[in-house]
Amino acid sequence: MTTSYDVVQVASLGTEFDQRLAARYRVLQTWHDPRGLTAFGDALHDARVAVTSVRHGFTQAMFDALPALQAVCSWGVGHDTLDLRAAAARGIGVSVTPDVLDDCVADLAWALLLSTARRTAIGDRYVKTGQWRALGQFPITTKVSGKRLGILGLGRIGEAIARRAAGFDMDVRYHNRAPRPGAPYGYEASLVALAEWADFLVVACVGGAATRHLVDMPVIRALGPQGILVNIARGSVVDQAAALAALRSGELGGAGLDVLEQEPTPATEFAGLDQVSLMPHVGSATRETRAAMAELVLNNVNAFMQTGRLVTPVASREMQT
Ligand code: NAP
Repeated sequence: MTTSYDVVQVASLGTEFDQRLAARYRVLQTWHDPRGLTAFGDALHDARVAVTSVRHGFTQAMFDALPALQAVCSWGVGHDTLDLRAAAARGIGVSVTPDVLDDCVADLAWALLLSTARRTAIGDRYVKTGQWRALGQFPITTKVSGKRLGILGLGRIGEAIARRAAGFDMDVRYHNRAPRPGAPYGYEASLVALAEWADFLVVACVGGAATRHLVDMPVIRALGPQGILVNIARGSVVDQAAALAALRSGELGGAGLDVLEQEPTPATEFAGLDQVSLMPHVGSATRETRAAMAELVLNNVNAFMQTGRLVTPVASREMQT
């Protein structure tokens, strides 16, 4: 007889989370098997809830393998790897982990902005490898305070980035598809116009097909030779080949990137570009925030099992996009 499970877990969210989930529900953990859900056949038939992460995603094939599925609880806030259309078609609810990661992703955006403008990673190497003593004074860099900050995507994270700009006496403007009611920042209806105005352009919008290469060569040229591009959203939003060409030719002043078009990558194309600061997609990767994200996934699973409702569902407007 096939064992029946309540929850299918396609991604491990850390030992503590995995143990807590398994202590409460009959959980089928599937991430160990490289064949994916197809390897589990009838064992999947009763599962009502699936747990995943933005990295593992949830595809049409995964939905198809789970006939009793009613909810997908994902770890992370992006839903570009979750097939929301497939979920909506079957009336399956999807939850993500918004709000709890805003501070850390915003902090990292600022770390990248400061590191790119003031070359802190390069300075660290300069001191540790003896270049300071050998070569003398470090090259002068770019001032941050008092400048103009443009934000592509004034959502939860974009707003946390904007709030931090007050401490740097910066003027902030943003571009969304529509102005955000009540936002205390100037709205630019055109992304090129925002880039032309800004000294620093921070990308904080959603990923996915609708925003692919939104930051293209015209936007990059508008930001200009003194401008700095920061991306903490998704690699797909920036035309990386265009950005690299502009960085090499001097048409773009610098870039601080937590996300790239291919991940993980050896990033050899960035070698030698001191005006670029890279991080390996770690916006939310602090102990505190990762624990809060795991807790929120668990809260969603528990709420759904008890009440049939998710705590932080993806909005129905986004389910249709
Ligand atoms: P959010 O609150 O939904 O904000 C997304 C913003 O993007 C909204 O202001 C939205 O405004 C704007 N937007 C959507 N489509 C757009 C378009 N076509 N053109 C211009 N603006 C557009 O999301 P969030 O919680 O702030 O998260 C934002 C993104 O950050 C996530 O989707 C994820 O990809 C990324 N992220 C990265 C990390 C990391 O580790 N680096 C961690 C967490 C999240 P309108 O709807 O008005 O256009």
